[in-house]
Parts: sequence; structure tokens; C-alpha cells
Amino acid sequence: GSSGATGTAPVGTNRNTAAQRVGRAAVDWQSLGFGFTPTNCYVKAVWREQTGTWSPVEVVPYGPNGEATFPLHVASTALHYGQSIFEGLKAFACADGHVRLFRPQENARRLERSALRLNMPVVPAALFLEAVTRCVYENLEFVPPYVEQGGGGSLYVRPVLFGSGGRIGLGPADEYTFMVLVVPVGNYYKGGLSPVTAYISTNYDRAAPRGVGHVKVAGNYAADLKPSMEAKQRGYPINLYLDAREQKFIEEFGTSNFSAVRYLDENGNRYVYVTPDSPSVLEGVTNKTLMELSLDAGMKVERRRIPVEELATFDEVFASGTAVVITAVDQIVYGDQVIGIGKHPGSGQVGPVARRLYDTVRGLQTGRLPDRHG
Ligand code: PMP
Repeated sequence: GSSGATGTAPVGTNRNTAAQRVGRAAVDWQSLGFGFTPTNCYVKAVWREQTGTWSPVEVVPYGPNGEATFPLHVASTALHYGQSIFEGLKAFACADGHVRLFRPQENARRLERSALRLNMPVVPAALFLEAVTRCVYENLEFVPPYVEQGGGGSLYVRPVLFGSGGRIGLGPADEYTFMVLVVPVGNYYKGGLSPVTAYISTNYDRAAPRGVGHVKVAGNYAADLKPSMEAKQRGYPINLYLDAREQKFIEEFGTSNFSAVRYLDENGNRYVYVTPDSPSVLEGVTNKTLMELSLDAGMKVERRRIPVEELATFDEVFASGTAVVITAVDQIVYGDQVIGIGKHPGSGQVGPVARRLYDTVRGLQTGRLPDRHG
């Protein structure tokens, strides 16, 4: 939440004080990974069936030695039946001293869609934004400092909603906990933007067409662990799934969306951004942003089915998500084939469209570029 020179900071405190707190925690900002770090606190709210309402947002400090445990009913539906969903977004320290969240309303909406699919009470957008803002505010010391050339870290925000009430017969819980925690993070992939080889998981499906792939359900990630570990053991950092029905069309990566770029359309005169249209793909906030920015840049945007055979014809392929914005993909392993992307696969070069979109998103996130999309 930023405010103008005459505005007020979101939680009613002097914005200079807030700016002075940024980056003050005893953290080595140069060597940030993507691991858990206890911060000052997390926040939570509880929904109970008796009242049918959410409690006020409560700030919960971690223990004096960074203890980060939470008491849970032994029969909670989250543990037994996987009634758990989450979100992921980031807060950035900006050049002007403000700390900004990137499109949190989008995550509020997606959490609502996820909640409805798992029969959970919805977290109203106002409560979501209050909890997220409060958690960031209470942990401003842990926001990595602004770095001039980009490439700096960010405060990763992890909202989670789960059935905390106990029950043994299958049914929705009578109590739900909504939590938001934050962790300072660096670049998820050490190489940042540099291209990787992706591996198509041909032995597993990520999601069924009318299942829960389109929402951010905890179990989707449990199901991806083995396929993604198998890809890693073979030496490929990310894995790509095909559609469950026909094994013919591109879906998405384990934790990011799939996009491709063609430099000329069928009339030979426009750049095209292509991304899958599928009922079982998670709608990424990053991918949505990249589509909007592509349109701004005069490109054409196509959301459609993408047959595997089309991969070899693209000029650029990349993965998109909150963790790294964009990861360029220049080779894709499919069975015993290695599909090269672009003119110089394996050369370590990042395509110009991926590079430009990446720079634009980073510029918007850190307030260096004017924002026209809210
Ligand atoms: N697909 C999957 C399966 C994901 O887990 C993520 C990360 N949330 C994404 C796509 C990208 O979504 P976003 O851009 O909102 O991070």
C-alpha cells in the first residue's frame, strides 16, 4: 500500500517510520534463498460455524527462539482430508521508500475461488487485504532493501486457509483458520532469468479437467512433489504437464504457467503471446499481467490449446509465476526427444520478449515504472 506525499500510511502510522524500518532485520540480504525464516509475527483470523463470521485479525508473535508452531485439532479436516488452500504474493521496497504489494486483489479473488471449490467459508477481500497489509506492516524490518538495478529480494506473503475444526466423518469443518505469514526471499532460481531445460512429466497428470487444478489447493502441490523430484533427479529444474484427457496439449509447469512467443503471426507482421486455455490450469497473476503488458506493447495475445508438436515452432518459451516472474525455457525434454526453442537453444540467451516483459514487471513491482493497470 503506497500513499502520496499528503496521504497516510495504510495502518495509520508515519510513513517515514515505516520506510526507516525496511531492511533493518538481522538478515544477510545478499544470500537470501526461498526458505522459511521466522519474522516478528504472523497474523490470523478464525471462522466458526456457531457465529458464521470471522474473528478480528490477530497478530501472533513467533517464539523467542523463532519457534513457529501452531496447535491443531488432531482430527482437523486440513490434516485428514486436505481441506487447505493457499496464496502467494510479494511486497517490494521501492525507490521512493514505500513498500508495495503486487496486485493483492487478484490473490484475494483467487483465494475466494479456491475456497468455494473446497466448500470453505470465503475470506472477504477486505479481510484478506487487511490481514496481508497488517502482516507486512508488522514485519517491515524483514522487507529486503531496494536495489537500484532490480534483482533485489522481496517479502514473500503466504496466506493460507484451512479447516482447523476436527471431524472424522467426511464433511466440511466447523472451524476454519486463515493465516498470513511472510518470509524475506531472494531469487527462487539461482540463475535468475537464464534459460533452463524443462522436462515433460509423461507418467503423471497434474490435474483432472473438472478437478481442482484451476484453484490453489494444497494437495495439487503434494501430487506434484514426486513428478517434480523425478525431473530434478534427471537434471531438469522444472517439469511441464500435458492435459490429462489426451496427453496432447500443454497445461502448465508444476508451480508456474506456460507461455510462448511467436515473432510473426500468420500474416507475418505481429508478435504473438500464446498461453494455454484449459479448465485445469491455475490462473496466474503473473501470466495475467504478462498478457496485459503484451497487449500494451502492441502484441497479439492468444489463449488456446497448444499441441506438444507446436513447441518446436515457437521463438521463445517461458514459465511465469510470483516466485521469479519469468524463467526462460530453451529446451524441453519429451520422452526421448529434446525440443529446442528459438534459434540458439542451449546458448544461455534469453529472448528479447521475455527480457522486456521481465524488466517491465520488475519496474512496476518496484515503482520505477508508471502503473496504468492498478
Ligand atoms: N501455476 C501453478 C501451478 C502455480 O503454483 C503458480 C504459482 N502460484 C502459478 C501457475 C503462477 O501463479 P502466479 O503468477 O499467481 O504466482
